Amino acid sequence: MKFENYRILPEIKRAIADLGYKKPTDIQYKVLPKVLAGEDIMGIAQTGTGKTAAFAIPVLHLLASEKKSKSLRCLVMVPTHELAQQIADVFKSLAKNTRLKIMALYGSTDQEPQIKALQKGVDVLVTTPGRMFDLQAQGHLSLEDIKFLILDEADRMLDLGFYQDIIDVKKRIPKRHQTLFFSATLDEKIKKLAYSTVKNAIRIQI
Ligand code: AMP
Repeated sequence: MKFENYRILPEIKRAIADLGYKKPTDIQYKVLPKVLAGEDIMGIAQTGTGKTAAFAIPVLHLLASEKKSKSLRCLVMVPTHELAQQIADVFKSLAKNTRLKIMALYGSTDQEPQIKALQKGVDVLVTTPGRMFDLQAQGHLSLEDIKFLILDEADRMLDLGFYQDIIDVKKRIPKRHQTLFFSATLDEKIKKLAYSTVKNAIRIQI
């Protein structure tokens, strides 16, 4: 199977080709069609498997296929600033031929430019929980149009004490949404978190 054979928008296919990806990795092959079909995913996969593009490609396709834009429709929650930047960069490269706006949002930097960027309109926000909740409480971002919640490196988020934040985000976004949950490991704590966030997910292990 090659990327050309997938039913994804040509502008995203061109970006994939520019990145030099010819065929999907294992996890992309398994995850991509399920996300396109609207399923929730619980993926057990390490970094280096191509998991970022596995969730970014189908979500960008679905978002770019809608008329709406510049409303926050996808929230990617990650444990660290570095990961937020890294994932936002992958989304940006894949979305470069679309109208979608991608932003990394995290603490320890000046809020003002972040607030200005949010005001211009953002479709995908890649964020660590703290700054996102701050700006939401101040009224600078709204979660009412969220359709996709992506939790990446959920095990590291638990280690850093973000359990309650994840539960809180779930409560603040619309009931009808798709959740894509990724973790490198699977133990009892992760299972508990997964059970509270993605009950009927398709499980994919790499
Ligand atoms: P990740 O697991 O998302 O951190 O990705 C690991 C590396 O694989 C990154 O450098 C990606 O650019 C690269 N990559 C992702 N998907 C593909 C693909 N289908 N073909 C070749 N390289 C890829």
